[in-house]
Amino acid sequence: LEKVPSDIEVARAQTPKDVGEVADEIGLLENEVDLYGKKKAKVSLSVLQRLAHQKNGKYVVVAGMTPTPLGEGKSTTTIGLTQALGAHLKKNVFACVRQPSQGPTFGIKGGAAGGGYSQVIPMDEFNLHLTGDIHAITAANNLLAAQIDARMFHEATQTDQALYGRLVPKVKGVRKFSPIQINRLKKLGIVETDPDKLTPEEVTKFVRLNIDPTTITWQRVMDTNDRFLRKITIGQSPTEKDKTRECQFDITVASEIMAILALTTSLADMRERLGKMVVASDTSGNPVTAEDLGASGALTVLMKDAIKPNLMQTLEGTPVFVHAGPFANIAHGNSSIIADKIALKLVGEDGMVVTEAGFGADIGMEKFFNIKCRYSGLVPNVVVLVATIRALKMHGGGPTVTAGVPLPAEYVQENLGLVESGFSNLRKQIENSKMFGIPVVVAINSFATDTEGELNLVKKLAVGAGAADAVICSHWANGGAGAVGLAEAVVKAASQPSDFKFLYDLKLPVEEKIRTIACRIYGADDIEIQPEAQTQIDRYKKQGFNDLPICMAKTHLSLTSDPSKKGAPTGFTIPVRDVRASVGAGFLYPLVGTMSTMPGLPTRPCIYDIDLDLETEEVQGLF
Ligand code: ADP
Repeated sequence: LEKVPSDIEVARAQTPKDVGEVADEIGLLENEVDLYGKKKAKVSLSVLQRLAHQKNGKYVVVAGMTPTPLGEGKSTTTIGLTQALGAHLKKNVFACVRQPSQGPTFGIKGGAAGGGYSQVIPMDEFNLHLTGDIHAITAANNLLAAQIDARMFHEATQTDQALYGRLVPKVKGVRKFSPIQINRLKKLGIVETDPDKLTPEEVTKFVRLNIDPTTITWQRVMDTNDRFLRKITIGQSPTEKDKTRECQFDITVASEIMAILALTTSLADMRERLGKMVVASDTSGNPVTAEDLGASGALTVLMKDAIKPNLMQTLEGTPVFVHAGPFANIAHGNSSIIADKIALKLVGEDGMVVTEAGFGADIGMEKFFNIKCRYSGLVPNVVVLVATIRALKMHGGGPTVTAGVPLPAEYVQENLGLVESGFSNLRKQIENSKMFGIPVVVAINSFATDTEGELNLVKKLAVGAGAADAVICSHWANGGAGAVGLAEAVVKAASQPSDFKFLYDLKLPVEEKIRTIACRIYGADDIEIQPEAQTQIDRYKKQGFNDLPICMAKTHLSLTSDPSKKGAPTGFTIPVRDVRASVGAGFLYPLVGTMSTMPGLPTRPCIYDIDLDLETEEVQGLF
């Protein structure tokens, strides 16, 4: 294991097949594939119609126990497992993973392509730009942001008649509403559709969105860790006539449009969701949407290519979809529904699709089931729960583990006691997975320092706690060959009948849905809704958003709201500080503690290591 070279060395040592060849192998037609160079391609949504009659393959979700800050190998296991299924067991298989943000790529070490001999290649293209989807999201998001402030400016500086003249201009002497403006008339209950016949009151209603600037929730975004944009003042040029406003930049992957890309099911559905995004309230407390700002069509145009999943391959030549990468706290942290759906058709009835849920199972998997599966209508067959000896030891009371700092002695020497007491966390996550009625296979991702005794102990405990199986695997060091046992266990579990159920009914009051997640999944005694959160809940109920699913924004480093509490604590409450809405994406997100939506750069970011070999044009220093 010690001899495994760096991720980029492993990735580069393997020459990828032309992606056209991968597309051929999986039965895609020429007109369904847009090549972006030789190693990446976009796949058309029309595949879904062509293969509508085709039964779906089996659907496997990879989740994990509560991790250390280093990550326990979910991405690596997703890729290793598909390599084992495809290249070794010769099944039709697809891995569906998220596209990483460029923020962490240049900030702290660690990509999302997997690691060691279980990776998506070419990993530099995977981690940088890919086919521009994140850039498209940035463009769409900021177009809407610009429209909000411009619209408020125009409303503040013009009379109703002047606004009307500009919003519904005469073209060759004739005034005409655009289709999006006709939608607005309908929404306002204005039956008159001849622009020259609106009453002055109707004109006022039509031209004034009356956005209350204190309620604006729409922020500008960029995909760089730029902490100095966490709070900014805009409108400082004299041309904006003192219409300054405090606001912020978020990282692009934290944007609602990213969450929409991951949850949408078709172009028409994406347009509808983009239109439904609420950006603020008006001065009477009604939600103001992107559709009200006339932007749904323009945003859809900017997103029309991003909606197509990106085809790449693993080190062992099996196909991978890389698509969408929403934050796993304020959003749901799962790759796209569209990629999973296309992949399930392409692999056919006997094939398998392995998709990954971010963070620990209490967060990523819970959202996978209650949000993603609710919108996709897909029923998963197996949960793979990734566990490591180091995470178990940390939960058992081992010293703090910090990225970039060598592991303390407890983690590199056998310590069965720490493993056994830390098992409480894995047990709770096994129980959480089973709560959804799906069989669970534990993947014990082995590291060079793990001992036979420790690995076998986890295997025994996991099966005792109700896992369908628990398999020690070494795919990081050995590629697919190291996960053949895991693949066999997953195939076996997938043949078992499952009894999938959601955790809560959408019709329950918001507070009850939050309480259900906190008590049943986290193990809390109760929740504590703070006054600001209650005000928001009341507002959303009034605005008609009670029935949306819940997307908890909680630390992933503990089952509680306190990242330092390890294991499977009991007797705690979950404080809900605030509740926000992503109406277009389709969820409410309660904030448990503070969440940063714009990371910063460390003192020594990866920027220092990244360079281009000017002769070979190869990227150097990436992981
Ligand atoms: P996650 O998806 O759970 O965050 P990753 O799969 O991205 O975790 O893995 C985190 C890091 O740990 C990566 O750099 C990966 O190469 C490394 N890693 C994963 N599994 C192993 C292993 N068995 N031995 C050594 N390093 C590993």
